[in-house]
Amino acid sequence: MYYEHAIQKYKEQHNLAAFRPKAVLFDMDGVLFDSMPNHARSWARVCTEYGLEMTPEEAYMHEGRTGASTINLLAQRYWHRDATEKEISDIYAEKCRLFNACPEAGRMPGAMELLTQVKAAGLTIVVVTGSGQQSLLSRLESNYPGFFCPELIVSSKDVSRGKPDPEPYLMGLQKAGVRAEEALVVENAPLGVRAAVAAGIFTVAVNTGPLPEHALIGEGANQLFPSMQAFADAWQDFFACF
Ligand code: CA
Repeated sequence: MYYEHAIQKYKEQHNLAAFRPKAVLFDMDGVLFDSMPNHARSWARVCTEYGLEMTPEEAYMHEGRTGASTINLLAQRYWHRDATEKEISDIYAEKCRLFNACPEAGRMPGAMELLTQVKAAGLTIVVVTGSGQQSLLSRLESNYPGFFCPELIVSSKDVSRGKPDPEPYLMGLQKAGVRAEEALVVENAPLGVRAAVAAGIFTVAVNTGPLPEHALIGEGANQLFPSMQAFADAWQDFFACF
């Protein structure tokens, strides 16, 4: 079966005799919350104001990159030079203003069903996000009551290097008290997949945006589902393979 093949391949790559997940590490934006359309729209608008351009695909492709690095990438392409400190801070402040003016993103369809099954299977649930919002926990708690606890959240405040560095996921393993080969990661972004794979964790990519599959598979994702709903629907069959 398809899942068994991916699991067997992971075991061979990591020289494992057995592989039984005890924890699931969830990315947040684009996995638990349908927040990426707001990010993509805010980037597109601020770029237009400054004579730059960012398509929705590109916003998804760069998800997780710092604001400064994203702005510099566009400045080099359209202005043929680096952005100044002032341009970076002005553009990023405006992007954040536009994003904060968007209606709050709702739950990702299928995420609640998946969390419910993961919890019922007795697995530890961890959140690993590049976000550093104060309201993180209350937002998780109000949308997904009873699934998350503060000790099992890794935010930008917990790490010195963000994704695509493996540090956030390594920190997630540490907080859950499990090894890489005892966990699964659920990610939607190419840079997030790269971080999780670099941490040595079996990585399930959920393609909740407009990216071609190879953008996620090419970063080393072990398994791909077209949506969180598809993963939730497949969970019983998937988990039975371990
Ligand atoms: Ca994400």
